[in-house]
Amino acid sequence: MIDDKVLVVYSGGQDSTTCLFWAKREFKEVYAVSYRYGQKHEIEVEMARKIAEKAGVSFEVMDIPLIGRLGHNSLTDATMVMDQEVPEKGLPNTFVPGRNMFFLSIAAVYARERGIRHLVTGVSQTDYSGYPDCRDAFIKSLNVTLNLAMDYQFVLHTPLMWIDKAQTWELADQLGVLDLVRNETLTCYNGIPGDGCGHCPSCKLRNEGLQKYLAQKAAREKLA
Ligand code: ZN
Repeated sequence: MIDDKVLVVYSGGQDSTTCLFWAKREFKEVYAVSYRYGQKHEIEVEMARKIAEKAGVSFEVMDIPLIGRLGHNSLTDATMVMDQEVPEKGLPNTFVPGRNMFFLSIAAVYARERGIRHLVTGVSQTDYSGYPDCRDAFIKSLNVTLNLAMDYQFVLHTPLMWIDKAQTWELADQLGVLDLVRNETLTCYNGIPGDGCGHCPSCKLRNEGLQKYLAQKAAREKLA
């Protein structure tokens, strides 16, 4: 365990909840921040709060509705129909331009005020729907930029960067929170907690990963 403080950028979804418990295992003192950025399903923030309380983690919500209004996207615009697949050209309209950059930059300022150097984000380049701000190169670049911007030595951690959804479920299981992640988090683009609506792109990715992991686990147990 690292004898230091860590701040998790926390949305209340599968990935960041897994990261929250990963941070609890790896660090002595865990903080979490969530953002209200004009997302249609603000319920995710309250779900995040409940899980953070349960985990005994210091939790704060910040309001940054401007981010949803700056870039046109279907996660914050209720009148827009959500892309169900990644289009052949360009990005799905679920992409919120600049979101992870803003989230991490704000988190870094918050962290620095509290003497926190370690930041955790649940982005993954493996199952990433084409979002450029989920890629490793972006995170590494931002890490350098944040350090230069504030003359401070941040360390950005991305425990999910090189693992797929099935392996993310496996990690949750190893951390003892598979059921919690499955039942109490919100990943669904239609705002339905737990196993979700089952047909939006986010549910598909999450559920396919879960089924793959559960099948692997069952096969392993059979062999044992
Ligand atoms: Zn869904």
